[in-house]
Amino acid sequence: MNNTDMALKIREMIEEQINLPSPPAVAVQILNAVQKQDTSLHELARIITADPALTGKMLSIANSGFYALPNEVTSIERALSVLGTNLIKNIALSFVIAAELRGDKASSFDFEYFWKRSVTSAVAAELLAKLLNANNEDIFVTGLLHDIGVLVMYLSKGDEYTALLHERKRMVASLTELEKQKFGFDHQQLGFTLVCDWGLPDKIAEPIRYHHLASEAPEQHRQTTQILWFADLLSSIYTESDSGEKVRDLQNKMSETFNLDEDAIRELLDDVATKSIRILKTFEIDPGDLKPYSQMLQEANAELGKLNLSYEQLVMELKDAKEKAESLASELRDANSRLKELVSRDGLTGLYNHRYFQEILDKEMARAQRYQSSLSLIMFDIDFFKDVNDSFGHPAGDLVLMNLARVVEGAVRPSDIVARYGGEEFAVILPETNKAGMRVFSERLRRCVEGVTTLADNQQIQVTISVGGTSIVPEQTNLDKQDLIDAADRALYESKRNGRNRVTIVNATD
Ligand code: GH3
Ligand code: MG
Ligand code: MG
Repeated sequence: MNNTDMALKIREMIEEQINLPSPPAVAVQILNAVQKQDTSLHELARIITADPALTGKMLSIANSGFYALPNEVTSIERALSVLGTNLIKNIALSFVIAAELRGDKASSFDFEYFWKRSVTSAVAAELLAKLLNANNEDIFVTGLLHDIGVLVMYLSKGDEYTALLHERKRMVASLTELEKQKFGFDHQQLGFTLVCDWGLPDKIAEPIRYHHLASEAPEQHRQTTQILWFADLLSSIYTESDSGEKVRDLQNKMSETFNLDEDAIRELLDDVATKSIRILKTFEIDPGDLKPYSQMLQEANAELGKLNLSYEQLVMELKDAKEKAESLASELRDANSRLKELVSRDGLTGLYNHRYFQEILDKEMARAQRYQSSLSLIMFDIDFFKDVNDSFGHPAGDLVLMNLARVVEGAVRPSDIVARYGGEEFAVILPETNKAGMRVFSERLRRCVEGVTTLADNQQIQVTISVGGTSIVPEQTNLDKQDLIDAADRALYESKRNGRNRVTIVNATD
């Protein structure tokens, strides 16, 4: 079977299975007009200007920057004379066909995506052809229609074909192979047959027929077919995922096939996006977030930078917050202990207060009883203190109390606890101290106080104290705090009764 027979066979198959759509009426008029050599220019201008929307789009494309025009073109007549009949015909056909086969939104086939892909392919084909100095006025419409077979397969087969499209994605199989398995022909052959039927020339039809396998295209159409193949890849970079991988693929294959350097390829890639945005709008297709690849990279890098920066900031802020929290915690600890001191101290003398004395005595008794150690308690009271107040005044009395507190603090060991028990009555808890030790201490304290003079308003004040003491020995576990206080108090009273300025020691159990 030779090539012509094969083509006929496939045509038969296609026509058996597929309703080939007739070309849009305006397209027919345009094609007819161009075929009539003599009147074509005026005829073409008339057809186009009859449709104001089409006219606007035509002029927009003419002025899009694709064609190096010296001035802006403002009429179809002028566009025709500057750009030529064939080019204008192709642009007009592109619009007419794309508008005609728009489909409806509810269908399972994404028409919007299909045309977005086709228009960016057309733009890419146009730009690549220019870059390669391959003068081809048909390249835009060829790019636009290269996958028209896909659309017609859907129009004819409906969901059966969309199922196949999904299967291709799932299996990552070649679409043309799947189509051949299912229908006996693929969308390249279908597209070719269709555009031939519509009367489009071989220059357009042949590249469509081979766009997936450029190496098999007839010699004279090979370059256009290759351009089409690359245009499809360029378009997929902007319309599909994995663009990074596709860009690397594009760079390798393009430098291999066309000997283009990296900068030229990058520039082409960006150009495709910039021009596509404009052309898509002319085709009334939403370009979405389409943007030049270099901008995509820049934005990705900026995002990455922001991410790193904010991560570093986060770490810094966390460190700061941690330090603040730590210093706050330590301040709080300090404040708490100051507060605790404050509530446990007596305001005038700075000695422990009555409440704290009770608390500590409890603990010290429990400890002594647990570890079988000795514990002594002494209480003392200033003798005739009322007279001090009466003679020297209350503030002088206060001074005496403060002075006395310093004297006692100077006399005790660090482990001893000195408290102001009441007005002019004091208590000293002596842990690990037996009766003999307590007696020695009490006597020393009494003498110490006796020898101290308080100066108030140039007057010398001397006081004495009466001391009462008691202690528990390791065996005494049945006594409680109050027993100890009562005993010491009793001893103190005994000192007073016996003439004051003296020490009395009693047994807690007496
Ligand atoms: P005695 O030897 O029997 O203890 O005689 P005294 O005068 O010390 O005893 P009394 O209980 O009659 O008087 C205690 C005095 O201590 C009365 C009170 O005004 C005084 N006093 C208590 N607390 C303070 C204080 O904080 N400052 C001053 N200046 N005087 C105080
Ligand atoms: Mg007193
Ligand atoms: Mg008193």
